[in-house]
Amino acid sequence: MFEKKIGWEFDNTYSKLSKNMFSKLSPVPVKEPNLVLFNHALSKELGLNFSEIDDKELALIFSGNKLPEGSETFAQAYAGHQFGHFTILGDGRALTMGEHVSKNKKRYDIQFKGSGITPYSRNADGRAALGPMLREYIISEAMHSLKIASTRSLALVSTGEEVIRETNLDGAILTRVASSHIRVGTFQYALISEDKEDLKKLFNYTVERHYPHIKKRENSALELLKIVLEKQIDLVCDWMRVGFVHGVMNTDNMTVSGETIDYGPCAFMDKYDPKTVFSSIDHYGRYAYCNQPLVAKWNLERFAETLLPLINENNKKAVKIATDVLNEFPKKYKISWLKMMRNKLGIVNESNQDEELIIELLKWMHQNQADYTNTFCYLMGELKQQSKIYNNKEFTSWKKKWENRVKEKNNSVEKSLSIMLKTNPRIIPRNYLVEETINDVVEKKDFVKIKDFLKVLQNPYSNLYYLAKYQSLPPANTKKYVTFCGT
Ligand code: AMP
Ligand code: MG
Repeated sequence: MFEKKIGWEFDNTYSKLSKNMFSKLSPVPVKEPNLVLFNHALSKELGLNFSEIDDKELALIFSGNKLPEGSETFAQAYAGHQFGHFTILGDGRALTMGEHVSKNKKRYDIQFKGSGITPYSRNADGRAALGPMLREYIISEAMHSLKIASTRSLALVSTGEEVIRETNLDGAILTRVASSHIRVGTFQYALISEDKEDLKKLFNYTVERHYPHIKKRENSALELLKIVLEKQIDLVCDWMRVGFVHGVMNTDNMTVSGETIDYGPCAFMDKYDPKTVFSSIDHYGRYAYCNQPLVAKWNLERFAETLLPLINENNKKAVKIATDVLNEFPKKYKISWLKMMRNKLGIVNESNQDEELIIELLKWMHQNQADYTNTFCYLMGELKQQSKIYNNKEFTSWKKKWENRVKEKNNSVEKSLSIMLKTNPRIIPRNYLVEETINDVVEKKDFVKIKDFLKVLQNPYSNLYYLAKYQSLPPANTKKYVTFCGT
């Protein structure tokens, strides 16, 4: 029995919720599964051992063609505000294979993405194409190494079948690992369920699974709102720190665990521009870089709406209590953002003038089209390819002010540098490199670049694998980078 050797410990609890919340079904088998990528480091973290399993067998497992013992596949129901409009959704092309509990008792959803149609597929095909799944694999793993809460990628299998998009593309299934797939949209779905118990059950389940310490609190629904608010502030600050633009912050793409989910149109900003948008459909910049905290708050308001009946029986009172918590968001976000920016600049103590100093730098970066990541690398003395832009008068005068600020109150420059080195990545997955890498795999079945890239992205803060090319900016003639949803 190979399952024994692998070490799966399935304990499926989500499917004990009301039947309205999910649909049990099997993955649609695929014609010719082939292993494209496998994440050995993650499998080790999960306490799984695939060392005696060959690639053929791995492809069978991670295509869903051969499910391990104990797996019970199901698609989750959820709703969501997409670009502000409420819609009933659900896993249209994903199936949870099971909840695996690792040796240290951490629970993980193991989920196939691209596994065939489900009752929630609407008119779509339930499948995914190889290119976008490679993209999710690369970026989700890069985010994890950047120390940003994220779903992970365990395996990628090509299906031997074509998916029809604008052209015919190779199909693929990604195995995603998440601490759960409970979204703001899952609560929105439970709220409108005909069975009034569904919301309460989902709430209890979520608290038990993610935040058991609030179970006994006087108003645990309000506590959940507060925790998710804090988690989202931390998450968005982390995105802002590395120049990450999620691109599709619909409420169905916001987890209550605080993990980044749904790597569709996301991308990393090169030149600093607060209005950066990559998504082809985000015409009004709703999900632009600078709007991410505002959208997080908007989404949290939608989350709060679902919790109102649990916060207080009296709706008016519940609204008042929840609003008080939500009104804290701007202040709390600002504090976290300033702390994060101070860390980026190695400022160890607080002063009221710091915000001005930070804004001055950001403005300079914007006006001079400076690269966001590399500007901080330059300040750390870690930019190997020098750019003339940093000899610019305004920059040198800002830099003097910053150097003086860092040394205030006898702070040592070494201490500042050590904070900066932990906060500012040297390497991010640059869009043009991501594209080149994916292209090599999809078009030429050439895995040299992707293997290298994934290795480099594992150590974004160290210069262990330092290669100047990964810090290089896109070639001057590169077109504006455009990304797509649900491909
Ligand atoms: P996303 O943009 O990935 O957040 O997806 C939004 C919704 O569309 C989710 O309910 C997805 O499951 C669904 N979806 C996206 N692509 C497909 C597809 N190819 N087939 C079925 N459902 C899909
Ligand atoms: Mg989604």
